[in-house]
Amino acid sequence: MIEFQAVTKQYDDGTVAVDSLSLTIDAGCITVFVGPSGCGKTTSLRMINRMIDATSGTILLDGTDIRAQRPAQLRRGIGYVIQHAGLFPHRTVLDNVATVPVLTGASKAEARRRAAELLERVGLPAELGKRYPAQLSGGQQQRVGVARALAADPPVLLMDEPFSAVDPIVRDGLQDELLRLQSELGKTIVFVTHDIDEAIKLGDKVAVLRVGGKLAQYDTPATLLAKPADDFVASFVGRDRGYRALGFLSAQGVPVGPVATVPLGADVEQARAELDSGWAVVVDAEGRPLGWVSEASLSTVGGVVRAEDLVSGGSLFQVDDGSLRTALDAALSSPAALGIAVDAEGAVVGGVVADTVVKALADARRSGEVPT
Ligand code: ADP
Ligand code: MG
Repeated sequence: MIEFQAVTKQYDDGTVAVDSLSLTIDAGCITVFVGPSGCGKTTSLRMINRMIDATSGTILLDGTDIRAQRPAQLRRGIGYVIQHAGLFPHRTVLDNVATVPVLTGASKAEARRRAAELLERVGLPAELGKRYPAQLSGGQQQRVGVARALAADPPVLLMDEPFSAVDPIVRDGLQDELLRLQSELGKTIVFVTHDIDEAIKLGDKVAVLRVGGKLAQYDTPATLLAKPADDFVASFVGRDRGYRALGFLSAQGVPVGPVATVPLGADVEQARAELDSGWAVVVDAEGRPLGWVSEASLSTVGGVVRAEDLVSGGSLFQVDDGSLRTALDAALSSPAALGIAVDAEGAVVGGVVADTVVKALADARRSGEVPT
């Protein structure tokens, strides 16, 4: 656990970068600091490992004032990842990661073995270990940066905009990977970003800062979306927040109705007889959806229903794992206006129309599941 108690940082030129910040960062969770450029995110983060010393106030790490330890000793328990990974350009990827275990007294062979294991852990193939950082893509370099920060197995990980310089698709993959890693490792992660979507996706809790280093709101992502504390947070959280908040509500309570299904390869006349409101879902041998057929689409098909005859489907939602957002999206994106519900194996279990999802939302609100 990390506690900020009225922490202020004023730089020598008079700039107040962080203004009396008080908050508690829970152990084993991802806490995100988010806010516009210059709001004091980096300064706040670097005060935790004493790369920057606070002007006033106290930071406690597991109950102990961080000033009670020498900075070098403190940092051994705190990994640090930055935007451009900060790798040594003249060392191989493997040696970049192995540097830390060597510093903490591991033998060279042991350090390399551990480094190879870490590269695998962050999703990099072992052969990349022989390359130099410049021979990797930006996304791969960031993974190496994460592996290196984990090398000393620190309980705390500080990450300063680690994924901001890579393109959106790679960033999305890195975020998923971080969540997967965290579900295995359970570190105390403090993650800085200016991107509210990244904050909402990654954070167990999110601290929104405003310029001048003042805390605007500190809450779970669901609460930030549903109940922004003021106009600044509301505008920072941005458009569609009502819709995005549906992502935090389970689709489990949504009643799923029947849907007409037809196996691929079925006789066209038989398929026509199965249509319900003019549509049926075509499924493979395992019952997984392949697409739709309709009265209109079948009229051009002779003999049996083939894969190339299908009208492509909308998004799907999982009945045990999906959110109201995925359920509503499935309904809205479906050519038949019926969202397809699937089980964990991906087999069709039924369908929902948008009205049903909206009713489920109304019920959730009435029962107080959504903060209103
Ligand atoms: P963020 O990471 O949110 O963009 P920073 O923590 O880097 O914000 O900076 C917060 C404020 O402190 C900004 O106004 C910035 O210009 C100022 N600042 C940062 N570092 C220094 C420094 N070494 N000296 C003076 N001002 C600084
Ligand atoms: Mg910064």
